[in-house]
Amino acid sequence: MPKGPIVTAIEVHEFTFDVRNMAPQGRGVLPQYVKGEKSQRTNIALRVHTDQGITGEYVNSRVIDAAAIRLIADLVIERDALEREKIYADTKWATQQIGRLGVGLIDIVLWDIAGKYHNAPIYQLLGGHRRRLPTYASTWNGDDTQGGLSSPEAYADFAERCLDVGYPAYKIHPWRHGPVQRDIETALAVAERVGGKMELMWDAACKYETLADAVKVGHALDEAGYYWYEDPYKDTGMSAFGHKKLRQLVKTPLLMTEFLRMLEPHVDFAIAEGTDFLRADPDFDGGITGAMKIAHAAEGLGLDVEIHASNASRRHTMAAIRNSNYYEMALLHPDAGPHDAQVVLNGYGDGLEAIGPDGCVPVPEAPGLGVEYDWDYITKNRTGFVVYE
Ligand SMILES: [Mg+2]
Repeated sequence: MPKGPIVTAIEVHEFTFDVRNMAPQGRGVLPQYVKGEKSQRTNIALRVHTDQGITGEYVNSRVIDAAAIRLIADLVIERDALEREKIYADTKWATQQIGRLGVGLIDIVLWDIAGKYHNAPIYQLLGGHRRRLPTYASTWNGDDTQGGLSSPEAYADFAERCLDVGYPAYKIHPWRHGPVQRDIETALAVAERVGGKMELMWDAACKYETLADAVKVGHALDEAGYYWYEDPYKDTGMSAFGHKKLRQLVKTPLLMTEFLRMLEPHVDFAIAEGTDFLRADPDFDGGITGAMKIAHAAEGLGLDVEIHASNASRRHTMAAIRNSNYYEMALLHPDAGPHDAQVVLNGYGDGLEAIGPDGCVPVPEAPGLGVEYDWDYITKNRTGFVVYE
């Protein structure tokens, strides 16, 4: 059997970009909406070279993964880039003390190489299933500034705008802090405005201090007919028992497992009846390879899996999964953003206006991830660079 392209070097670039109308709020606090200000973020870009002249590329927003590449580069260099399953197993094992960081990034770049090698988009190599992905508008967290997401009415106004743009669904990330009652009023105000016209989801991102508060909000979501309730409280999404209990007290389906890593804990959590929907993220869960394992495990249990966040790797993954409902367009704000670096040149985009009249986004059709990155921008705005060879 002919060998695939052999990995010769891995480049890790860190680069910065400005987020419009977002201002830093001090140490340990996320930036918030302030008109006319900007905040700086760092993304990372990976380039993996091979002896056949094929280069895999991937840009990602979680800069912490860059550090882990140092640990696993030696397990990837001089390996056959098409042997993803073996590399997945080896890198997963090598990163067991550091939360499996970096495994997903390497896998996604290897899929990009595979697509370029076979001259096919990744979703087609995965088996294909669909080319249009129903999409929900996923909001930023709340803020305290007029013109932003500063009140229940502001969230309802923005929901209406997303509905006008064509979104069939809207997910609220509420304020990261503040009174539970304000969240309840927001859930109800949005449902009153757009309920019945679009699906509504609630993602507390593990903010509620107690299970009792999570139940209280859950009852409001029940009343308003929400589609899912995601990561309610401060166990930080890890207690299967706690969420089994919550499922007994709240009717709205729970969506959990964003904060667990890789296949096995996802399956354990589902079998322990801690969730209704599963979550998978190619960056967090061992790449497209890992996310597909979770999708197939969910399929075997008769459950749905929802893919976390936005970029081309998510689109290819979701396109090849039957048991998945919505692509997440994250994170949208009425007057700030975009949240991730806009470094794709060939027409691909994530953002408020990026959906079609059918409420869907397409899957890139060019080989591999099907996106062309703006390396001029990346190198001009570079703050860190390492090559492993
Ligand atoms: Mg979430």
